[in-house]
Amino acid sequence: MSNNQYPEFVPVEPNWNQNTIAVQAGRPARVAGAPMNTPVTLSSTYVHTTDLGYGRDGNQSWGALEEALGQLEGGIATTFSSGLTAATAIADLIVPGGTLLVPTQAYYGVKNIFARLEMHKRLNVRLIDLGNTVATIAALKSADAIWMESIANPTLVVADIPAIVNEAKKLNILTIVDSTFATPLRQRPLDFGADIVLQSVTKFLGGHSDLLLGAVICKSNAHAEFMVKHRHDFGAIPGGLDAFLALRGLRTLAVRLDRSETNALELAKRLRDHPKIKKVNFPALPGDSQHEKATRVLPNGCGGMLSFEIDTTPERTDQILQSLKVISHATSLGGVESLIERRSRYEAERAAGVPMTLCRFSVGIENVEDLWSDLESAISTVLG
Ligand SMILES: *Cc1c(COP(=O)(O)O)cnc(C)c1O
Repeated sequence: MSNNQYPEFVPVEPNWNQNTIAVQAGRPARVAGAPMNTPVTLSSTYVHTTDLGYGRDGNQSWGALEEALGQLEGGIATTFSSGLTAATAIADLIVPGGTLLVPTQAYYGVKNIFARLEMHKRLNVRLIDLGNTVATIAALKSADAIWMESIANPTLVVADIPAIVNEAKKLNILTIVDSTFATPLRQRPLDFGADIVLQSVTKFLGGHSDLLLGAVICKSNAHAEFMVKHRHDFGAIPGGLDAFLALRGLRTLAVRLDRSETNALELAKRLRDHPKIKKVNFPALPGDSQHEKATRVLPNGCGGMLSFEIDTTPERTDQILQSLKVISHATSLGGVESLIERRSRYEAERAAGVPMTLCRFSVGIENVEDLWSDLESAISTVLG
């Protein structure tokens, strides 16, 4: 099936840096008159007879975005209408009645999918502590597949993906990594031998909080073909305009991520020294419980997500978050603008043991001093 009126893309040279790939991959090949960007095609049907019959078969904008994402992750990308529909397609790869290992600390929407599938006897879920490599490897023996989320939401726990995948491969276990927090610029799980990567493109890759979109990136052709067929048969397709916007966002990923990471490191340091802050989670920060693993698994940095606990009540924490002026009190993450929320506001996060005042902070690309004075004055206004 062809997604593209311009089937030839600019060739990606093997020596290109990831930052160059993010800017160049997925553009139409440079022949005379070719546009710089693959145009958006907003059509639900096509005149017979081509590979494209109906809107579920393919779309040029998906093709361009998938070329770029595939090149960045080192695999074959298929895009879906959201990260969660992408996760649903991945779950369908697991043998009927199979056992899936799922981390206790993971995006709760994903855990919700698995709980439903378990309720319908489609698979068995076993919760694991993915940050504990020894315990995770021990749990592999009785599993058919392992779902890893690293860096994990919202505790910023880092998994030793190379060590775990190495053991899983010996046992022929399907290995899946939700790499949304790290992005392909900080971690490439397929290089560690993992089979499948999930990206919620909604977050850092899109980067502007203006769309929902998901991607599955596979190492094998067989898995990639499964994903395309799944999307066609179940219909969880991205919009053509959303795919275009996601690729437009991806072009600036490298600079956005660098800035939010620099901001996050500075804010993490200052928060750690603040008398009203109990704990800061940021794997790039020396002294963080995940730092040693992070230096090995994510040597190029840990992205722009951090979380911290305030030494007060949940109610006062909410008051602090509500009085912020630069940072928005809102869910989601990965946009140019800073977003913060107390995760235990959600029942599922409380059930997973997320601390009551833990604030998940998606650090944006604003000026770091503006972000700091916003936080500092909100804390001192409410806590004195
Ligand atoms: C947001 C998110 C998802 C779900 O993606 P949607 O695009 O919102 O459906 C999955 N995993 C992680 C880590 C996320 O942050």
